[in-house]
Amino acid sequence: MLTELSQFEVTTGLPDIVGYVFSFLFGSVVGSFLNVVIHRVPREASIVFPNSACPKCGVAIRAYDNIPILSWLILGGKCRACKSPISARYPAVEFLTGLLFVLAFWRIGFTPFLPACLVLVAALISLMFIDAEHMILPNVITYPLLVFAFIVRLVFPAIFSTHYFSDLNYWPATLMLGQPSWIVSLVGGILGALVGGGSLWLIGEAWQRLRGVEAMGLGDVKMMFGVGAVLGWRLSLLAIFLAAFAGALIGMLLIARQKDKDFQAQIPFGIFLGIGSVTALLFGEQIIRWYIQTFLP
Ligand SMILES: [Zn+2]
Repeated sequence: MLTELSQFEVTTGLPDIVGYVFSFLFGSVVGSFLNVVIHRVPREASIVFPNSACPKCGVAIRAYDNIPILSWLILGGKCRACKSPISARYPAVEFLTGLLFVLAFWRIGFTPFLPACLVLVAALISLMFIDAEHMILPNVITYPLLVFAFIVRLVFPAIFSTHYFSDLNYWPATLMLGQPSWIVSLVGGILGALVGGGSLWLIGEAWQRLRGVEAMGLGDVKMMFGVGAVLGWRLSLLAIFLAAFAGALIGMLLIARQKDKDFQAQIPFGIFLGIGSVTALLFGEQIIRWYIQTFLP
């Protein structure tokens, strides 16, 4: 039986499984760094210095106690020095990052777009966990993300190929035949940013006029400007749709569990935008194809 070799096997001469294992290990190490970002960025502390320490007793964490996932399990979720509990968020972020890096390796393949995709996934993980804990999406992450998104939009068509951006197969890119690919890609990025961030901003404005309450933080808008620029308008729409769907589902569950029916749910929407964005990034075109085949005649 002839099986087609993957790009990873062709490039490295190693079986695919090595790529998957390496993706998970690399992801869990990146996740360990994201834990530092999630803990320190909202507190406006340096993410480089000092080295990680126990938040309770301040004892520096030794290298052998800083192995992603494993150290937390071995130490039973407690600090070695003071035995105070260490949040399960630490191994959870490490595991989630490992898992999403594996999915990215699977979906994107061993292509130049993979590192860009991993950066986006890592930024989204830190934003989601910061929003969950502090209800903010810090500018120090969302602004660089926006810059990064437009660099990706400009560099990839110029150096590699435009086929990493699915929106360029559709309107309005199809009207721009004959234009340099980086211009088409840049226009696609701007449109994606407007659909991703601009639509959220419009919804927030409309809601504020109608109900007089602030529904959408500007952090959500800034985050989706950057994400939308990479995703393009199609996948941005899908990301927001998935986020609204997941948010409504979980919001209803929370309200159902709540005794007090006046409950004004304060749900950090950035979590759902993150879930929607990662899903659209990795599975978006498949989901759109499935939706069209299933629901449209
Ligand atoms: Zn301690």
